[in-house]
Amino acid sequence: ARNDAANQIVVIGLGRFGSSLAGELVRRGAEVLAIDARPTVVQRHADELTHTAVADTTDPESLRQLGVHQFTRAVVAIGTELEASILTTSLLVDFGIPNIWAKATSHQHGRILERVGAHHVVLPEHEMGKNTAHLVMGRMLDYIELEDEHYALAKTRAPAEAFGRPLGDTRVRSKYGVTVVAIKRPGQAFTYATAETVVHDGDILVVAGSSDQVERFAELT
Ligand code: ADP
Repeated sequence: ARNDAANQIVVIGLGRFGSSLAGELVRRGAEVLAIDARPTVVQRHADELTHTAVADTTDPESLRQLGVHQFTRAVVAIGTELEASILTTSLLVDFGIPNIWAKATSHQHGRILERVGAHHVVLPEHEMGKNTAHLVMGRMLDYIELEDEHYALAKTRAPAEAFGRPLGDTRVRSKYGVTVVAIKRPGQAFTYATAETVVHDGDILVVAGSSDQVERFAELT
């Protein structure tokens, strides 16, 4: 195995999703091996990424030659080519790579990737679509749903009934079931909120709670 294996990540497929992901990993200090079957795509990203290679990742020999079997983290970002996505993922599973993320374009695709052995399946378009619905419907400025138990974090304007009093006195938690995690005054940076924090008109909050509770709280604004 390689040294500092957690910092070395192989990304397969450099479409919109894979190239954004690989670029962010590099900016975060990871050492990335990025692979795509199309030379033009690889060339386009070669400057930005640590190591790049042109290969058909449905071929186990090509993967071995690139040392892919030695990685402990891999992302399969092939979306539309279903067969390539499934075959590539199953080869990584056969190699025994312990952390495999795979992108799916549909729930059925996602189920197959799970069956094949992917450890994490992401559905970027479905997830973003769902999140965007919350932004369009309600008063939320940003919204993240954490998979389990429909727990959510939302960025929202402060409701009038919370103005002028310390958060501890507003009964936001007992009444709405949400916790104010962070607060931002106009022109200032976010800072964590405490029971003593006083909310003013124009403040932006980050609140946590079940998705229903968070939605209800945001409707107050
Ligand atoms: P996005 O929707 O994120 O743009 P795509 O599914 O369009 O994703 O792109 C996936 C990338 O995966 C493409 O650049 C394509 O060349 C690459 N790809 C597809 N099949 C293979 C394969 N067998 N081996 C390596 N790369 C592949």
